[in-house]
Amino acid sequence: MITTRLPMPGNGPRPERPRPVDSRPPHTPLRPTWCCRADGQPWPCGEARLLLRLEYDGNSAGLTIYLAGLMYEAMRDLYHLNPHDGPAPRTLFDRFVAWGASRRPAAHRRPDSP
Ligand SMILES: [Zn+2]
Repeated sequence: MITTRLPMPGNGPRPERPRPVDSRPPHTPLRPTWCCRADGQPWPCGEARLLLRLEYDGNSAGLTIYLAGLMYEAMRDLYHLNPHDGPAPRTLFDRFVAWGASRRPAAHRRPDSP
């Protein structure tokens, strides 16, 4: 039998980063709402972004992979919580992934790249 349905992907990364820096609650997401457990802001909050940039210094590909995996997990949770009026995919992409993407200097871009 041929089907057009794709298999359900497995779980993404565990949201354990940024790692705690002291005994206070870490700036990691609370599921399923994806708010920061330390300050209640939408995750990744400003502090989480700073700490993630430090943790992934020199490994922007690793940061992007981590963030994209968590974006997928957040989509699963948030659309389950609010199936008819969940956040737009572009909104989630900007919130989770776009801010952490590495930017090549303009001099190294190919003419056809954005
Ligand atoms: Zn936070």
